Amino acid sequence: MRKKIIAGNWKMNLTLDEGQKLTSEIVNMYKDEKISDVVVVLNPPFPHIFPVKKLIGDTPGISVGAQNCSDKDSGAYTGEVSAKIIASFEAEYVIIGHSERREYFKEDNELLSVKVKKALESGLTPIFCCGESLEIREAGTHEPNVKFQLTDSLFDLSAEDIQKVVIAYEPIWAIGTGKTATADQAQEMHFALRRHLGAKYGKDVAAEISILYGGSMKPDNAVELLSKPDVDGGLIGGASLKSRDFIDIVKSY
Ligand code: PEP
Repeated sequence: MRKKIIAGNWKMNLTLDEGQKLTSEIVNMYKDEKISDVVVVLNPPFPHIFPVKKLIGDTPGISVGAQNCSDKDSGAYTGEVSAKIIASFEAEYVIIGHSERREYFKEDNELLSVKVKKALESGLTPIFCCGESLEIREAGTHEPNVKFQLTDSLFDLSAEDIQKVVIAYEPIWAIGTGKTATADQAQEMHFALRRHLGAKYGKDVAAEISILYGGSMKPDNAVELLSKPDVDGGLIGGASLKSRDFIDIVKSY
């Protein structure tokens, strides 16, 4: 179901103490500042999932997720973590296909398609990332390029399952660079992606899918980005490591 979601991607940052401090601050601010209509998802490194979940407790509206999962179910895959294991720690979300995974770990559309299915089979909500490089943006082929990422990794899902997926449009040139897509650029791509989903699954199904924007979202640009009709939230990297900034983005809705 289409929800407003602000998800933090901690990436490979924070020790146990630092992660607990950040989580406690976020949970307290969320409660004290009476936020209720925006779902917050904290995506820490794997070892943090259990302590973060404990600190969140039964606070409604806040969930924990992972930043990746294996494409395998179980077995001799040293260093990997399956969707089933993640779900057993009461995580609810998993980021799949972040551009850093695509680039540094050579994850391709085919592999990501398997990971999305493993996540869904385990009851996790995949946050499926897509987005174009600067080169592709400058060549003007960003729309077909990103649509193809969806087609290739997601379009063999049933209409029921695609509605369980959250999509994060993250132009690679805007991730961690301080260079944000303008609100109009974001809206244009979100609209195009929703229309693409609609062409395959029908308008009603496409209207149920949350499409988040990611790429240098900060408190000072969040209001404008989040005011766009097809922008249903954000996937936040750098600013998710500062509780005040992160909660200010959540409150930008
Ligand atoms: C991200 O890593 O998904 C991201 C959007 O990072 P940042 O907000 O730092 O650009």
